Amino acid sequence: MNYMRKYIKLLEDHHIEGSFSYDRAGINAPRAVQQAIEEFHNLPEEVKKNTPLPYYILGSGTPPYKMSREDSEYTDKSSDPSTTCGNCEFAYQKVISKKYICSQIRDEIQPPGWCNQWVKGK
Ligand code: SF4
Repeated sequence: MNYMRKYIKLLEDHHIEGSFSYDRAGINAPRAVQQAIEEFHNLPEEVKKNTPLPYYILGSGTPPYKMSREDSEYTDKSSDPSTTCGNCEFAYQKVISKKYICSQIRDEIQPPGWCNQWVKGK
């Protein structure tokens, strides 16, 4: 059982009401994040239950509050094979499209890529 399912089961087992309402989320967030949260609130309850808000925001694409490719000096090919998006903490692969995205910079990334935000993944 993955961590998200364990978390959901824990909430259900303890009858924690409103766990997926995120009433205070985004109060001081940039407008783009607030819009994503509004979209999330309009999703069917079953979808919200299986997609925690942080996953939804990250998976919804590469929103404008992330750093630009220019500012992060992103390149599709790292000059150092030991520091690539493929071993960076901030890289994610979308479940359905299989495309790689990053929690720090906008747009699609490539596993051999690199930027100045690189942090060794765990
Ligand atoms: S922070 Fe930079 S190096 Fe790390 S995954 Fe994102 S783009 Fe790649």
